[in-house]
Amino acid sequence: MSSDSVDNRLQCPNCGASIRPDQSICPACGAPISPSDMASRSREKASQMIRDANQNLVQAGAGAAESAFGLGCSLGVLLGLALLALIFILGSRNWILLGLVAIGAALFAAGASAIISARAKSATMAGTYARDVEPEIEKTIQSNRFTRQEFDALANEILDKNAPLRRYLSLPPETESANSETQDHEF
Ligand SMILES: [Zn+2]
Repeated sequence: MSSDSVDNRLQCPNCGASIRPDQSICPACGAPISPSDMASRSREKASQMIRDANQNLVQAGAGAAESAFGLGCSLGVLLGLALLALIFILGSRNWILLGLVAIGAALFAAGASAIISARAKSATMAGTYARDVEPEIEKTIQSNRFTRQEFDALANEILDKNAPLRRYLSLPPETESANSETQDHEF
């Protein structure tokens, strides 16, 4: 498999033909590709990749959390029913006690399900990151000739504060900006 990473190529601003990062002239129409064209194209591509990757993590995490929560709740309901049946079989006809046990079981099931789903979410996101996102980042860095620092700086810029992808990248602290020309938009 000689993957040529076609989807990571740049496009000619004039005719849209794909251009390798090392070409300074479009092979199709001959238009010169200026370094700044290249840089902004690369940035655009990488930005899109970063947004997609983050979205990928969000969706994978949400799907896992939802199914784990559903599973936890069903197990909780079964457990609660079993508990009620047991108490009933043991001879208690105290309806208030049975009601309290039912409520307690429901609360416990909801709490346990929330914990289970949070774990499923982070485990699934970590798996998705390792399997899909990490290789994609490597590919983007190589094909656009970024350094890892440049890539991380870009990610830091475009990802919002709660983006899950942040957790997996070694991003610089949010509040400190090494870049003096960055404007401060915090109120
Ligand atoms: Zn062209």
